[in-house]
Amino acid sequence: MTKYDYLIVGSGLFGAVFAHLARKAGKRCLVIDKRSHLGGNIYCEEQHGINVHKYGAHIFHTSNKEVWDFVNSLVPFNRYTNCPVAMYEGKLYNLPFNMNTFYQMWGVTTPEQATAKIEEQRAEVLSAMKEQGINAPRNLEEQALCLVGRDIYEKLIKGYTEKQWGRPCTELPAFIIKRLPVRLIFDNNYFNDAYQGIPIGGYNKITEKLLEGIECRVNEDFFARREYWESLADKVVFTGKIDEYYGYRYGKLQYRTVSFVEEVHQVPNYQGNAVVNYTEREVPYTRIIEHKHFESFGDAVYANPVTVISKEYSTEWTEGSEPFYPVNDAANTELADRYRALAAAETNVIFGGRLAEYRYYDMAPVIEQVLNHPEVKGW
Ligand SMILES: Cc1cc2nc3c(=O)[nH]c(=O)nc-3n(C[C@H](O)[C@H](O)[C@H](O)COP(=O)(O)OP(=O)(O)OC[C@H]3O[C@@H](n4cnc5c(N)ncnc54)[C@H](O)[C@@H]3O)c2cc1C
Repeated sequence: MTKYDYLIVGSGLFGAVFAHLARKAGKRCLVIDKRSHLGGNIYCEEQHGINVHKYGAHIFHTSNKEVWDFVNSLVPFNRYTNCPVAMYEGKLYNLPFNMNTFYQMWGVTTPEQATAKIEEQRAEVLSAMKEQGINAPRNLEEQALCLVGRDIYEKLIKGYTEKQWGRPCTELPAFIIKRLPVRLIFDNNYFNDAYQGIPIGGYNKITEKLLEGIECRVNEDFFARREYWESLADKVVFTGKIDEYYGYRYGKLQYRTVSFVEEVHQVPNYQGNAVVNYTEREVPYTRIIEHKHFESFGDAVYANPVTVISKEYSTEWTEGSEPFYPVNDAANTELADRYRALAAAETNVIFGGRLAEYRYYDMAPVIEQVLNHPEVKGW
C-alpha cells in the first residue's frame, strides 16, 4: 500500500483546494512545491506591515455564490473594489471607460453628450478608412479606432497595449480586442461580478487554512526525483507545466511574463490608489501597484508611515522566468492540444490549474473547477 492517496504537485489554488477537500474526505495527501513557499501565485510577502503581492496584484472576483461562500468560509473578505485609474501625460482618467472618463476627456456631462462625442470620433475614423478603401479593420489599431475613436485609443489604449505585447498596435491582430465596453454611467468599479474583495489579513491566510493539517514540502521539484515521488501515492495531482510533464516531447510551450520592481517609500500614501496604469509608450512600466490600498481604507492608510509599490514591466518570457500567461496563437494552441490529448488518456494523473492546462484562469474559476471536479464529486 502506498503512503498517500494523492501526491499533489504544486501548492497554488488548484493544488491547495484539492488537498483541502481530499483531507476533508479522509484522503491522505502530500503536497510538494518547487518554490520556497506555499500558495503559488497568490503568495504575499509581508514588508513593513503590508502584504505585498509577489506575483502581481491579485483581486478576487466572482459571481459564483458557491465559490464566494467557500472562500469566505476559510477567511472573511474585505470590501476592496477595484477602481484603477490611467495616467497619460500627467492627467488621470478613470477606468473602465465610463462617464467619469468621458467627462475628464471631453468635459461632457450627460450620457447623450458622451454618446454623441464617441459617435463623432468613430465616424471620423470610419470615413477616413472608407476613403482609403479599407472595409474592415486590418489590425488592432484600426479595430480600436473603429470601436471608440481616436482620443480614447491614443490616450488610453495604444501605449499600454504596445508595452504589454512589445509590438506596435498596427502589427497586432484585430481579434485581440473584440469589444471595448463603454459605460454611460458614473461607475469606476472595474469588475461586473456580484462579489469581489481581498481576504482580510491577506492571501496567505487562505493558503494556511486550505493546507491546515496537510503534509507539505517546499523546495521540492517533482522532476528532480520523479520516480520517488510517484512511488509514494496512488494518484498524482499535477499543477505544473504540461509540456514539462511530457519531457517537452512535442516542443516547448511559450508564455508571456511580467517583471516586478518593488520600491519602499517613506510616505504613507504614494498614489492614493492600489492600481494606476501608465498608458504612455514612453513610460517603460505598464502599472504601479501600491499594495497597502488592497487592505487599508480611509484614514487607516495613514496609520502606517511607509508604503510599498511595484512597477510592472511586460517582458518576453525566457527559460527560467515566471511562466505567467499562455500565448494564444495558433502554434501554441495546437501544441497545447497535443499535450492535452496525452493528459486526457492518463488514468492516475489529474491535471489541473493554469500551467497543467495551459489556459489563463482567474482565481475563482480555478476553485470552481476543483469543487466540480469528477474526482472530488466521487468521494
Ligand atoms: C500576474 C498575474 C496576475 C493575476 N491577477 C489575478 C487577479 O487579479 N484576479 C484573479 O482572479 N486571478 C489573477 N491571476 C490568476 C491566478 O494567479 C491564478 O488563477 C491562480 O494562481 C491559479 O492557481 P494554480 O494552482 O493553477 O497555479 P499556481 O498558483 O501557479 O500554482 C502552481 C504551483 O505549482 C508549483 N510547481 C510547478 N511545477 C512544479 C514542479 N515541477 N514541482 C513542484 N511544484 C511545481 C509552482 O511553484 C506553483 O506554486 C493572476 C495571474 C497572474 C500571472
